[in-house]
Amino acid sequence: QTPVPSDIAISRSCVPKPIDHLAREVGLLTDEVELYGKTKAKVQLKTIKRLQTQPDGKYVVVTGITPTPLGEGKSTTTIGLVQALGAHMNLNVFACVRQPSQGPTFGIKGGAAGGGYSQVIPMEEFNLHLTGDIHAITAANNLVAAAIDARMFHESTQSDKALYNRLVPLSGGNRKFSPIQINRLKKLGIEKTDPSTLTEEEITRFARLDIEPSSITWQRVLDTNDRFLRKITVGQSPTEKGHTREAQFDITVASEIMAVLALTSSLEDMRQRLAKMVVATSRSGQPITTEDLGVSGALTVLMKDAIKPNLMQTLEGNPVFVHAGPFANIAHGNSSILADKIALKLVGPEGFVVTEAGFGADIGMEKFFNIKCRYSGLRPHVVVLVATVRALKMHGGGPTVTAGMPLPKEYIEENLELLEKGCSNMRKQIENAQHFGVPVVVAVNAFKTDTEAELDLICSIAKAAGAFDAVRCSHWAEGGAGAVALGQAVQRASVAPSNFKFLYDLELPIADKIRIIAQTIYGADDIELLPEAQHKVELYTKQGFSSLPICMAKTHLSLSHEADKKGVPTGYILPIRDIRASVGAGFLYPLVGTMPTIPGLPTRPCFYDIDLDPETEQVNGLF
Ligand code: ADP
Repeated sequence: QTPVPSDIAISRSCVPKPIDHLAREVGLLTDEVELYGKTKAKVQLKTIKRLQTQPDGKYVVVTGITPTPLGEGKSTTTIGLVQALGAHMNLNVFACVRQPSQGPTFGIKGGAAGGGYSQVIPMEEFNLHLTGDIHAITAANNLVAAAIDARMFHESTQSDKALYNRLVPLSGGNRKFSPIQINRLKKLGIEKTDPSTLTEEEITRFARLDIEPSSITWQRVLDTNDRFLRKITVGQSPTEKGHTREAQFDITVASEIMAVLALTSSLEDMRQRLAKMVVATSRSGQPITTEDLGVSGALTVLMKDAIKPNLMQTLEGNPVFVHAGPFANIAHGNSSILADKIALKLVGPEGFVVTEAGFGADIGMEKFFNIKCRYSGLRPHVVVLVATVRALKMHGGGPTVTAGMPLPKEYIEENLELLEKGCSNMRKQIENAQHFGVPVVVAVNAFKTDTEAELDLICSIAKAAGAFDAVRCSHWAEGGAGAVALGQAVQRASVAPSNFKFLYDLELPIADKIRIIAQTIYGADDIELLPEAQHKVELYTKQGFSSLPICMAKTHLSLSHEADKKGVPTGYILPIRDIRASVGAGFLYPLVGTMPTIPGLPTRPCFYDIDLDPETEQVNGLF
């Protein structure tokens, strides 16, 4: 067997078709496509309207067993499956994947374009700036952060009247409210549009947001793994007159604006979500929104291009939408609803859209169903659950691996006993998918050290656990040809009876919704709300946010809250440390244990290998 070259070598060896050709092939009209060079294009949202009477294609979500540092290959399988369905089974297809964060690309994980002969190309375009959507989010997010601190500063140094005069300046002898200010007046119950008619009391209420500094939940963001920004003090220059406060940076993909991008259904809906985001509470207990800060229109302007999905292609020339990129552990971990919707229309009723949910089925898939499908109204036909021999062996008690050291022999030699033990994790994740009433196909992503007996064992355990089917695939080494059996199984499953249901009812109390996820999906005995979380349950219930869905922020490395507990941990209570509200995106997110919201760099980050050849302008070292 010839060795498989590096991901970047494979990507580079293939000449992508011009993106405008691909756009035409998939049925897009010239004026629906905005070209960004030769290999990337943005697709306008008006496409959905043009195709509104076209029935949707089949909708497939790819998820996995609980991840391990050994890598499972969900992105690789998403692309391999689309290549199989498209290039080898002649069906209309689309892959919908997230845009990778530059944190992992330069940090530990590397890129996320898939791997081997199942990739999105050109992978350097995919993994680096793409069309700038993440940068737009950074800009928008940090504009809100700047608005909060500046507003508190100005309120502290000015009288109510002076504030009001600056917020509603004289123009041509008259004062005039902006549309955003009229919205704020309405929210305060002041039904006036003429600034000269406001009473003294109304002027005070309008001019002062009176933000309680300790209640600010909006953080600054950066798309870099810069751990030293996890806790900072802002306002230390003398020009800020002592208005210092402790704050933090999160990674950009954890920004609520990223979640808004992923969950929005139109430009108008995005405008509304960007206005509803709650950034803090006032001293009198009122939620303060981005609209109160006057910044919501500017945010929509910054995000107007980011909302359009990005068209790229697989190594075998199939279309891919790359759009939105929330992490799955600290955010909801799914690509955009808009990309899925456009793709479902473009492929038509016999076609397939394969979308990927981040991390394991307990995290990305649960959020896919309970958050993304709730907002999109879309109902998937099939769940593909990716498993690998080596990751299941780790769940069975295999040794930990150390970066830069050779893999322990357990992972490269046959060991059926370890594998069988570890299949408990796959069984649990199959059961988790079945809670939603959708058929599950297990894709066993084969590595070259796996043995026949090992691959067979996983398939038979998966089928015995109730999977619709379980097939081994070799798309990493062979491209789409290696995933044809998977494609056929998915096609059969897509017409099998299904009975979709959500896991919980939105109207249940907040704690009950969290408990249902913890007990049913994670296998916890119960949850424990720590004091801050209890306080937030009361606050959000009072503020009217209790009927939002839940987005758990939990480690992805275990079904439980403890990353080192592999397999299927039992007999534990899940601690909920705090709860935050993403009112614009539309969910509450409980923080399980301590979760860093910006990753750090390892001793030897991926950037050591990344360089540019000035002669050829080729990027080297991405993987
Ligand atoms: P995930 O989406 O689950 O995080 P990826 O698809 O990004 O995983 O794959 C992680 C890494 O593992 C990539 O570098 C990819 O090339 C590699 N990989 C995936 N499948 C295989 C395989 N069957 N054999 C060898 N390497 C693989």
